[in-house]
Amino acid sequence: MSLTQLARTRVQQLTPYQSARRIGGQGHVWLNANEAADSGQFSLNCERLNRYPECQPPQVIERYAAYAGLAPEQVLVSRGGDEGIELLIRTFCEPGRDSILICPPTYGMYAISAETNGVNVVEVPLTDSRQPDFDAIIARLGEVKLVFLCSPNNPTGDLVDRAGLLRLLNAAKGRALVVVDEAYIEFCPEHSQADLLAEFDELVIIRTLSKAFGLAGIRCGFTLACPEVIGLLLKVIAPYPVPDPVAQIAAQALSEEGLLLMRQRVDEINQLKAELAEELLQHPQVNEVFAPNGNYLLVRFTPGSDMFARMSRAGIILRDFASRPGLADCIRITIGSRAEMDAVRDVLQKEQ
Ligand code: PMP
Repeated sequence: MSLTQLARTRVQQLTPYQSARRIGGQGHVWLNANEAADSGQFSLNCERLNRYPECQPPQVIERYAAYAGLAPEQVLVSRGGDEGIELLIRTFCEPGRDSILICPPTYGMYAISAETNGVNVVEVPLTDSRQPDFDAIIARLGEVKLVFLCSPNNPTGDLVDRAGLLRLLNAAKGRALVVVDEAYIEFCPEHSQADLLAEFDELVIIRTLSKAFGLAGIRCGFTLACPEVIGLLLKVIAPYPVPDPVAQIAAQALSEEGLLLMRQRVDEINQLKAELAEELLQHPQVNEVFAPNGNYLLVRFTPGSDMFARMSRAGIILRDFASRPGLADCIRITIGSRAEMDAVRDVLQKEQ
C-alpha cells in the first residue's frame, strides 16, 4: 500500500490550499486576497519567548470584548477566523454523519473545512436577489448542525437580511447553530448582527484582524458566541493557538490608538471603493458592480472580456470567479492603496 493510500479516503482526493501569492500569476500589485495595503507599526517584547503563551491571551480577549460590546466569556481568539470556522465544525459535527449548510456562492473555507474533517456539505444557493433562501434553509434545519452565512458575503458583498436571520434564529432554537461570518463587517459596522448574541444562544459570529485591521500576516481571528458555546470550543482548540508575538500585536491593534487607525483605514478604503465603483459603472465592458459592502468589488464584465488577462499583463493580480456557478465573467478586485487603484484605473482607461 502506498503512503497516499494509507491516508483517509477524503484526504487522498484533496489538493493543498494555495496561498494568495501563488494563485493568480506573477505581479506586483496584489489585489486577489482582500488584504489591506498597510498594517501600521507595532513593537515587540521578545523577553518571554522561552515560555508558552496563555491559551487565551487575557488582554486580547478583554480588548476585543470591549470593542465588540460583549463579555470576555463570549470571545474566543484563534489562528485566524479560519481556525474558528474549523473549530466549530470539529466541535459540533460528527465525522461521517453530520452536515453543515452553506449558501453558495460564498467563502470557500466552510466547505473545505467540512471536507477535510469528513463532514457533509448541504448547499442552498443564494436566491436571485442574492439573499440566503431562508425558507429553504429552515426546511433543512433538521439535517444540519451548522448553518454558515456570510455578511458581507465574500465574494458578492451582499448583507444578510436581518428579518430573515431573525426568522432563522427562532427556527434554529435547540436544533442548530447559525454562524454569521462578519470578516468584513468593519467596512459597514452598522450592519453587524452581534447585538443579537444577547438574545440567541444559537448565534455565532466570526471576526478577524486580517481585513480592516490590516493584519492578515499575524493570523488572528475571533469567534463570538454565548459562554456555553465558547466553553465547548475551548475543549477542542489546539493548545497555545495564539503565539505571544501575535497576542502582543493584536493587543496593540485593539488599543484606542489602534482602533482609531483601523477606522481611518476603513474610511480611506470606502472612499477609494466608491471612486472605483463609479469608474467601473461608466466602463463599456462592465455589466454589473455587485454590492460594495466589504473591502472589495465583485465586477461582472461583458462576456468574453479579457480584463483579467489585461490586468495580469500590467502586473495587477485580481481574483477570477468566472468558473463559479452564477458568477460567469466575474472578477473580484480588492481595494488597495490609492496608487494601486490608480494602476487599476490606468488599465481600465487605456484599453477600452
Ligand atoms: N471569512 C471570510 C468571509 C473571509 O473572506 C476570510 C478571509 N479570506 C476569513 C473568514 C478568514 O480570515 P482569517 O483566517 O484571515 O482571519
